[in-house]
Amino acid sequence: MIIRETDCSTETFLNYPVAQSLSFTANGTTRSVNLEEAVLPQDDVTGWPDRVPTFHGYSFTGSAEAEYVYVGRGQQVDFQRLLALNVSLEGKIALARYGGPFRGLKVKNAQAHGMIGCVTFLDTGDDGNITEANGYAPYPFGKARNPTQVQRGSVQFLSTYPGDPTTPGYPSKPGSPRTGIERVTPQIPSLPLSWIEAQPLIQALDGYGPTGRTVNRTNWVGAFNASYSTGPAPGVTLSVSNEMRENITTIWDSIGIINGTSQDEVIVIGNHRDAWIIGGAADPNSGSAVMIELSIAFGKLLATGWRPKRTIVLCSWDAEEYGLLGSTEFVEEYIPWLSKAAVSYLNIDVGASGPNPTFSATPDLNAIAIETMKKVVYDNYRGYNNMTLYDVWRGLGGRIGILGSGSDYTAFLDSAGISSIDMGASAGPTDAIYPYHSNYDSYHWMSTFGDVGFNTHKVMCRFLTLLAYELSSREIVPLNPTTYGVEMTGYLTTLQSVVQAGGSNYTNVDLSPIRSAIQTFNTSASAMAQLIAATSPSDTTTVDNINAKLRDYQRGFVSQGGLPEREFYRHVVYAPGLDTGYAGVTFGGVTEAVTFYRNATMAQEWVGKTSRAIELAAAILAP
Ligand code: GLU
Ligand code: CA
Ligand code: ZN
Ligand code: ZN
Repeated sequence: MIIRETDCSTETFLNYPVAQSLSFTANGTTRSVNLEEAVLPQDDVTGWPDRVPTFHGYSFTGSAEAEYVYVGRGQQVDFQRLLALNVSLEGKIALARYGGPFRGLKVKNAQAHGMIGCVTFLDTGDDGNITEANGYAPYPFGKARNPTQVQRGSVQFLSTYPGDPTTPGYPSKPGSPRTGIERVTPQIPSLPLSWIEAQPLIQALDGYGPTGRTVNRTNWVGAFNASYSTGPAPGVTLSVSNEMRENITTIWDSIGIINGTSQDEVIVIGNHRDAWIIGGAADPNSGSAVMIELSIAFGKLLATGWRPKRTIVLCSWDAEEYGLLGSTEFVEEYIPWLSKAAVSYLNIDVGASGPNPTFSATPDLNAIAIETMKKVVYDNYRGYNNMTLYDVWRGLGGRIGILGSGSDYTAFLDSAGISSIDMGASAGPTDAIYPYHSNYDSYHWMSTFGDVGFNTHKVMCRFLTLLAYELSSREIVPLNPTTYGVEMTGYLTTLQSVVQAGGSNYTNVDLSPIRSAIQTFNTSASAMAQLIAATSPSDTTTVDNINAKLRDYQRGFVSQGGLPEREFYRHVVYAPGLDTGYAGVTFGGVTEAVTFYRNATMAQEWVGKTSRAIELAAAILAP
């Protein structure tokens, strides 16, 4: 049989909102804060009595009443600055602005500083020029943010480990042992808030504590008519109440398999299916539409008698939003097979929330990604025609980013060491504000503002389908390790500045083992490139040998055990930043020994582990 379909289910711990409320007291009067998004007829909400309330996934059941402190983006540096300014945090509630680090880390940092609750809010300061103050009408009438829009989302501490918080590192099967969740979920209640409701809360702090100007941190001051003072203000309090229902629930990944002629080489393509809200036009359904069209295209190819060389596994992940559950539990269950067989993982989450394409990947995929972009026509990009996806991407700066976390490639790359790419398209500075994790991520928003004519959807689909075709069909898999070496040399330069910026404690940290390991890697990569150039596709023995090496060398990068205090993250070259979550760090073991743990001994130990992993990758790759 060529195509098989199968449902993979696991039993995971999830929580659901029961009752959420927030009240605000100032000048002796208390009022309740509106947590609901306005219901708009344009969004076709007929029959939406069950629309999803605004809440945080994996938030803590509890209540807190206290004065509150504005904590900026809620990164560790923000809290350190507040402590340096003698702002009292202990026993207070944190008011943290969205943007920057993953929201769960804002709550984590607030909790770590003895705060007893956290409210995360949207600020129009993050909307560039596209604001009502600049004359743009808010959704549904124009490109600006609807004032009542709220960003739901998980508050799991994803940079510690993703997946079901009760089964770290192993699959959530019936009967699996389960651990406590305190290590990766908050123990203080939290709620998300719209900008219109947050504005008076920020204004009420004016005159109390250092002003935003005094705090003097990037992105501290937003667009409200306020001084962005820290507070606390005497008698100005919040009362947060959050009740969640917890249970173990079945989730389903839906998996389709196209058998290749070579069974031990697999290309995995994935997109999540769950959404925070009833619509989810962009997140995840723009990506899901791409996946469906891709499978139709492969279905047509199969009908002609075509068969890929490599097996293609199509995955529709469940429960991504709570913390990458479907994909992580899948990787944890099938790690023996994936380690043996997986060549690449291709991810698409939000396929289109605007017209600008973005790509992040391990560098061995750069060349084939760029080559594929050149073959894809991007009709009507902002009214321009005769452009390729490559032209558009080059016009936007032409960089393939590094992978951090926040979507389903995480377990494939960081835990299993599988080369990965993530793709999507997002809004530029003149485009409509994307109502991320909001009820307004609706068909109406998408067809009126996000992707009129669904043009960008088509472009992303052409790209992903063609990329999957090339990776699954070429005799020699188009992975280029040479670029890995080039990029690692760049990361080493960055690391040198990180170590230097660390100060005198780190003057004895010797990075030369990494430099020499990269040289060894480069030698292997160029020998491999020569062998590839000299090999005829009909020489099946050599071709098989090359393909096995291009698949297997990546596992060298995950060979040294986990990163400090987070054993799930095993890749020595890439990891989500401990205090960023979304944004990645390179040579994470060394980098974070310096920037996070401030430990020179640990830094040197990780120089050793990092260089040994690179040497191992080089040894596997060497022809
Ligand atoms: N993509 C989701 C978010 O950004 C989930 C990320 C995660 O938990 O890793 O909220
Ligand atoms: Ca697990
Ligand atoms: Zn998503
Ligand atoms: Zn999402």
